[in-house]
Amino acid sequence: MGNGLLIVISGPSGVGKGTVCKRLLADNDRISLSVSATTRKARAGEIDKISYFFISKEEFEDMVKREEFLEYAYVHGNYYGTPKKYVLDKIENGQDVLLEIDIQGALKVKEIYPDGVFIFIMPPSMEELKKRIINRGTETEEAISKRLEAAYEEVEHVLKYDYVVLNDEIETAVKKIEAIIDAERCKVSRQLDIINKI
Ligand code: 5GP
Repeated sequence: MGNGLLIVISGPSGVGKGTVCKRLLADNDRISLSVSATTRKARAGEIDKISYFFISKEEFEDMVKREEFLEYAYVHGNYYGTPKKYVLDKIENGQDVLLEIDIQGALKVKEIYPDGVFIFIMPPSMEELKKRIINRGTETEEAISKRLEAAYEEVEHVLKYDYVVLNDEIETAVKKIEAIIDAERCKVSRQLDIINKI
């Protein structure tokens, strides 16, 4: 495979992954976002093919059969999957790709592609996480408790990631992720082409 970085970001629902990723993408032309497919209904403000490819369960199952996903998972009652072709083409062309996916998906990607950069975003506290999910106002009460319950389990998986970033303040979290990406790009193992030419 080519030289692009595969950057995988996970963290519990409500931790602010979406906002952090948006900022990261806006400030870094070299990184492109992999748009996932989901069977979840679009929330207000979400746009098909930009936020997600919103598809039916049947369409999703067809894509699974055709092996079009790099990984897919059942999260909070819906299917989510990463389209394989987009990600692999970009990386082969030397571009960095960002996946904002759940922990099950991230661990599957790690098995297939251990060279990826796996970053876990942590909330400052569980209390703060609860506040953020409630304030977002997009979820029913049942969905909020489901997501909070999952969050307690999810944070236990942080040990399987390469990096952990506390999202206390967006600006600082984004800077830390940029520093991680810069350092990863400088790794000797990723610079062999350049080193061998000198
Ligand atoms: P939401 O419904 O809040 O957009 O996303 C719910 C969860 O699904 C989040 O943890 C998000 O990171 C995860 N997710 C989004 N896309 C994918 C994907 O393609 N694969 C996997 N495994 N998880 C995803």
